Amino acid sequence: MFNPQKATGEWQTLDARHHLHSFTDPTLIESEGSRIIVRAEGSTVWDNDGREILDCMAGLWCVNIGYGRRELSDAAAAQMALLPYYNNHFQSASPPMIELAARLAGLTPDTINHFAFANSGSEANDAIARLARQFWQLQGRVTKRTIISRTMAYHGSTVMGSALGGMPHMHAMDGGVSNEVVHIAHPHWYLYGEGLSRDEFGLKAARALEDKILELGAENVCAFIGEPVQGAGGVIDPPSTYWPEIQRICKQYDILLIADEVICGFGRTGSWFGSQTLGIQPDFMPMAKGLSSGYLPVAAVGIHDRVYNVLADGGHLAHGYTYSGHPVACAVALANIDIIENEGLVARVRDDIGPYFMAALDKLVDSSPIVGERRGIGMMAALQLVKNKDTRELPTLTDNASIFCRDYCYNEGLIVRAVGPSIVLSPPLIYTHAEVDQTVDILGRALDATAKKLG
Ligand code: PLP
Repeated sequence: MFNPQKATGEWQTLDARHHLHSFTDPTLIESEGSRIIVRAEGSTVWDNDGREILDCMAGLWCVNIGYGRRELSDAAAAQMALLPYYNNHFQSASPPMIELAARLAGLTPDTINHFAFANSGSEANDAIARLARQFWQLQGRVTKRTIISRTMAYHGSTVMGSALGGMPHMHAMDGGVSNEVVHIAHPHWYLYGEGLSRDEFGLKAARALEDKILELGAENVCAFIGEPVQGAGGVIDPPSTYWPEIQRICKQYDILLIADEVICGFGRTGSWFGSQTLGIQPDFMPMAKGLSSGYLPVAAVGIHDRVYNVLADGGHLAHGYTYSGHPVACAVALANIDIIENEGLVARVRDDIGPYFMAALDKLVDSSPIVGERRGIGMMAALQLVKNKDTRELPTLTDNASIFCRDYCYNEGLIVRAVGPSIVLSPPLIYTHAEVDQTVDILGRALDATAKKLG
């Protein structure tokens, strides 16, 4: 039987010997060992040596309700005992998946009423690529295949997910996969605004989509995909003019609009979905992470009625995963949605902890000589590190500023993330005011140390 009690060194040795980590340099695992996290409660995790660490990343942007909620483990245990598995292939269904689809229909925009299930955000986006191309194919518009995405987008790690993403290091790994995906520039005003107001830049950045459609020919373009607020690319919250213009362009050229809600969904931006915060009317909404607060792997794809109607007329749908709509994962997702609803977490992000979090971070922009801007909305934020606030000169890779700052925080008991020259934060939605204060206190000291290092 599995024995969770081992000395940290023993875990690290075993880990280095047998485990290939995600997004990690294996030589670091061999030389330094991994961080062994064994327990969590609220917004805090504990390592194998009993050290307490405040998790200002909610795991990987996912533990929206915080750790340790018995309602979810109870829901899992009850469903596991009743029906641990059944699938949704060949005309089958189980009550948790039906109930979850119906609940999601009540939370998403009125036009989204059907949901396909998957196990991860990557799989959800893979499914969308197939469904979106099928949508056009069924209407005889077989050349509408290219999907337009953005630089620094993150849409997953499968072959299609990484192609949809716009991360150079992800593309480099499999030799620049295309999968009929092209990219336009992401709308980061602070770095690329070049004398334009935020709103002017938002229009300009959105019109890059129009230029790309005209270059490719609208008859060849299937869809545009974007995170309402780009998360893993550095929490890029677009100017308010951006999404309405993207919407206009998609409509004008008959292009499907995919709003990737994997991070933005389930309250993180202060609405149930980022699309509601930013006024987007998507044709597809992939969602994962906050759907179960990460307690079990589950993802869903919201489908606009106009797309569903065409797909339904197309007959047999040759798509699905063994675990699509897994009953235990769906039961856990339902318990998670109950908590978000009953505890008013969406309104809490919008009216209380979100504004408090942003105001606290804004003070760091004022007090630190190396923070050029604070980005974000709700409970997702980034601090842009710069060497010079006037020129907006960025630290270089060899300056190692954000990684130094992140590691300083970790050693002081705080988890944040480094994305390029930015520090990224995405705490659980239950984060307390005291936890925000503690975060800003540690981060402030880490920024001071980083500033000293940058000289
Ligand atoms: N889409 C977005 C916006 C994401 O942030 C992520 C993961 O971070 C994904 C898709 C992929 O999700 P998963 O890691 O569950 O495959």
